[in-house]
Amino acid sequence: MSIDFSNNDVSMDELEPLVTTSLTREDEAEGSLRPKRLKEYIGQEKAKGNLEIFIQAAKMRNEPLDHVLLHGPPGLGKTTLSGIIANEMGVNVRITSGPAIEKPGDLAALLTNLGENDILFVDEIHRLNRSVEEILYPAMEDFAIDIIIGKGPSANSIRLDLPKFTLIGATTRAGQLSAPLRDRFGVTLRLELYTPAELALIVTRSAGILEVPIENEGAMEIAKRSRGTPRIANRMLRRVRDFAQVMAGGVITQSVADRALTALEVDYLGLDAIDRRMLTAIIENYSGGPVGLETLAATINEEAVTLEDVYEPYLMQMGFLTRTPRGRCVTRRAYEHLGIAFRGGGMEQLSL
Ligand code: ADP
Repeated sequence: MSIDFSNNDVSMDELEPLVTTSLTREDEAEGSLRPKRLKEYIGQEKAKGNLEIFIQAAKMRNEPLDHVLLHGPPGLGKTTLSGIIANEMGVNVRITSGPAIEKPGDLAALLTNLGENDILFVDEIHRLNRSVEEILYPAMEDFAIDIIIGKGPSANSIRLDLPKFTLIGATTRAGQLSAPLRDRFGVTLRLELYTPAELALIVTRSAGILEVPIENEGAMEIAKRSRGTPRIANRMLRRVRDFAQVMAGGVITQSVADRALTALEVDYLGLDAIDRRMLTAIIENYSGGPVGLETLAATINEEAVTLEDVYEPYLMQMGFLTRTPRGRCVTRRAYEHLGIAFRGGGMEQLSL
């Protein structure tokens, strides 16, 4: 079946980007797609296996779970996992983020309002400011905080006991956490990019919840193009659903998914316009690299942190990009994928 997308009325300007660091408007409906229990959480077998044991052991001892640090690129399921841990432990979870906790008092208010064994989830925990972080140390270790009352010579410090709680910290950059904070987490779990087969299961599950008919090949097409990331897979599913509804009687087939994603400038390996600009800039402006991240970001007018957290993990996993002490280099594979003649640059040149 051939479908003509050329005169569709979906304006690209109205669409939110498929790849972003932050949540988009569409993701606010994400809640319904989030798995609630560990057995519904697809993939991440290593992290899941460990967690299952820790959760069972904590429940047997009737204690809160040890503090957990989750790290990995955005959209891999860190927030989802914290909700699942709370459900499995049968406790409540309060969700906040590093930049949202501005003053020590904000954190004190959050902590004193927790119930026994509750979970405090702090996203982007590497962005906590120093004075807030210092309150967190005794809170994590002794379940107590020291509050200073008054100012100057008459200032008094009183110790306030807290309920026992579990801190779940999430970060895209474990390396940026200070050593004292990192050391206070009993459990550290690294989330990995998902395989296409796992993502196909996630897409099929989400399609079921959204009541969108989808063929296995359609789910696999979305999976292969969603750069290892469930959030992107779910976003793509919504977009492809729109195309399917308008143009193909509502069913997501491989051909609908392919046409829709191509129209959205996502290529068959999941690279989008920014990935291609990034690789092309390294090739054309820096002979394949090495080039420093900041320089590269300025060249293509994107933020360095976005390139590093969102774009690089997938480009490196696909073997298109390498990080060296002197900067980023593209590989021969990237030249081939972009259809640019390889002139000997980047890694290949370095190793000559
Ligand atoms: P993060 O906190 O790491 O940025 P989220 O937990 O918000 O990521 O996950 C983004 C979305 O991806 C969620 O809404 C959820 O529907 C989906 N998701 C993530 N991990 C899984 C998984 N293992 N199985 C099924 N869906 C998942």
